[in-house]
Amino acid sequence: MARLKSVWVYHVDAGSCNGCDIEVLDVLTPYYDLERLGIKVVPNPRHADVLFITGPLTRQTRIAIRKAYEAMPPKPRIVVAVGTCASSGGIFYNSYALYNTSPQRGRDRLRSGGPEMIVPIDMYIPGCPPSPEEILYGVAQLLGIKEKKMKGEYWVALPPEEKPKAENEVEFRIPDRPIPLRYWLTLREELRRVVGYYDRDAVLDDFIALVGKAFEDENPREKLHDLVTGYFLKEKDSRIKVAMRFLENEFWRLYDEYTSLGESMRRKYPVTAGV
Ligand code: SF4
Repeated sequence: MARLKSVWVYHVDAGSCNGCDIEVLDVLTPYYDLERLGIKVVPNPRHADVLFITGPLTRQTRIAIRKAYEAMPPKPRIVVAVGTCASSGGIFYNSYALYNTSPQRGRDRLRSGGPEMIVPIDMYIPGCPPSPEEILYGVAQLLGIKEKKMKGEYWVALPPEEKPKAENEVEFRIPDRPIPLRYWLTLREELRRVVGYYDRDAVLDDFIALVGKAFEDENPREKLHDLVTGYFLKEKDSRIKVAMRFLENEFWRLYDEYTSLGESMRRKYPVTAGV
């Protein structure tokens, strides 16, 4: 792929909510300026080296997507799935409107899907939606220019008395949060794969409030489970219910992972106030 100097891209929407399409358009604006990397968006798949697919693949779009893929020149014919929906079906994975060969229905349906069911995908850029920077990063990798043009820079969170040691380390002070920032950032990022960004911060805020309450109890693990169950019973939106359970599992995974680290590692990767 490194031999590709300039690539022409054809973008198709396989049934997205348009969130990903807006981010793809953003990448084309003068602010991000995808064309400076030699990328040009073309209106015809016959001229395209790369196919950008957004959306979870509906029954209506599957034939058009397959036709667009077949219309591309056979080499290099690279397909990039942009967004969580295009990567896995995303939040629409069990919708009746999607093309899915799984015999299961509803919540039993496996969380798989997306355009990979009808075309081979070469690169996934997950995120709901992926940010323009993530799309650019994916494209830069595709062109093999990332290694050539980017220099590694490491953001290190240090205790107040320590300074960065290596030249490419950049000091980063973590502000206080109700839960450690390290957990908060990871949960927020992971949550983006389950719910869209409209609900994300509200769901995360609710969850953090429950964590705060749970840690007032002697057995926070059981308490948090009870609190999430209570939330679960009141909430009507099944996506938010799923997101809450997901957050609970993720939170304990992070917590267990962190508390199992040795003291020196905990000093190296400190978390701030909270649990
Ligand atoms: S990944 Fe998110 S933003 Fe993109 S199409 Fe799916 S729901 Fe919309």
